[in-house]
Amino acid sequence: MAGLSAAWRLHKKGFTDFVLLEMNEQPGGNSRWGENEITAYPWAAHYVPVPGPKAIHVRELFEDLGVLKNGQWEERYLCFTPQERLFLYGRWQEGIEPAIGLTAADRDQFQRLEDLIHGFRATGKFTVPMEIGLSNTTADLDQLSFADWLRSQRMDSRIVNWYMNYCCRDDYGATSSNTSAWAGI
Ligand SMILES: Cc1cc2nc3c(=O)[nH]c(=O)nc-3n(C[C@H](O)[C@H](O)[C@H](O)COP(=O)(O)OP(=O)(O)OC[C@H]3O[C@@H](n4cnc5c(N)ncnc54)[C@H](O)[C@@H]3O)c2cc1C
Repeated sequence: MAGLSAAWRLHKKGFTDFVLLEMNEQPGGNSRWGENEITAYPWAAHYVPVPGPKAIHVRELFEDLGVLKNGQWEERYLCFTPQERLFLYGRWQEGIEPAIGLTAADRDQFQRLEDLIHGFRATGKFTVPMEIGLSNTTADLDQLSFADWLRSQRMDSRIVNWYMNYCCRDDYGATSSNTSAWAGI
């Protein structure tokens, strides 16, 4: 998406003298798809949350693609958030955030983390593109890993760290040690 988006922007700005190089047979990277005799299917990325008002470039792309028309979402491109389940200690639980077998300390850390994230979200500084929301306070968060930030917040629960690592792998294909604190948050 990074390369394709760059080409899309260049093209829209009237630049045509460039080459987009792709190592694979098909472009798209993590968001490319495959097809078999039954159906088309994604290899990895296959949905995006409805972008907020500050996601100006994503909204512009969706307008170009006909997904967003005059401020209205084209309904056939919308779907409900998938409901995920987690298999933990031999049991299925609803939702992907671990909820069974937690200690009081695990619960306390999940709650503290949730409160912190709500606080960060309320600042409106965590945006894509970053430039719209970035300030000195959040720039620091791009200088350390998410795992280090969790440690600095005294989040030592094994299950909290497992879940945050899972989220980074799911969203970025990288561990929480290789994801910036800004991106993790
Ligand atoms: C399992 C999984 C599920 C995900 N699900 C979602 C999702 O549902 N929604 C979402 O928004 N995000 C999702 N993501 C995240 C999303 O896939 C990535 O953030 C996004 O695809 C990253 O795009 P990119 O262009 O930076 O990198 P990539 O998608 O990795 O693209 C890099 C491209 O560069 C090419 N390349 C590499 N080296 C060279 C070279 N030397 N020469 C030429 N070409 C080269 C690669 O072949 C590839 O096409 C998911 C990630 C994973 C791992």
